[in-house]
Amino acid sequence: MRRSPRARRWRLEVPWGEPARLTAPRSMSRIEVERVLHEKRAWIEEQRRSQVPRLGLERLAVSESEARTGAWELVSAFAEEEAEQLGVAYRRIRIGDQRTLWGSCSPRGTLSFNWRLVLAPVEVLDYVVVHEVCHLRFLDHSQRFWKLVDWRRPRWREQRDWLREHGPELLAFRASE
Ligand SMILES: [Zn+2]
Repeated sequence: MRRSPRARRWRLEVPWGEPARLTAPRSMSRIEVERVLHEKRAWIEEQRRSQVPRLGLERLAVSESEARTGAWELVSAFAEEEAEQLGVAYRRIRIGDQRTLWGSCSPRGTLSFNWRLVLAPVEVLDYVVVHEVCHLRFLDHSQRFWKLVDWRRPRWREQRDWLREHGPELLAFRASE
């Protein structure tokens, strides 16, 4: 539990694989805190139950630098191929350590990707790359953007669903160095 001078109301989070975290405003009394924790006990347990490791990541001894290099190589190859197909160009590719994001495309043409994608099935990594390359054509999530994605990768929904289901576990993964 953490007190925050800036918090207007309490917030309860159950980060993947970590203890539950309650952020409370200074004004919240001890009794109110106890009440929230009591009322939310079942919810916390439900969150915990959905956080069962299924990807076998704990068995992987991956160093972050190796993973980043691997991610960069794969992402670059896929992005180059897709950009050529679509007749678009990007400025550079950045591999980052985003906590919540898989990929992004800046208005100036920088494509950024989360290095943890290299731990996902290759079709999933491919979809994220293609999604961002399609943003070089349309920098929004308009109908014509999704039409383009649909044309390039008709099975993109399967990859998106995989990310929804397993993404939190992937994002919680810490490399060995
Ligand atoms: Zn997008």
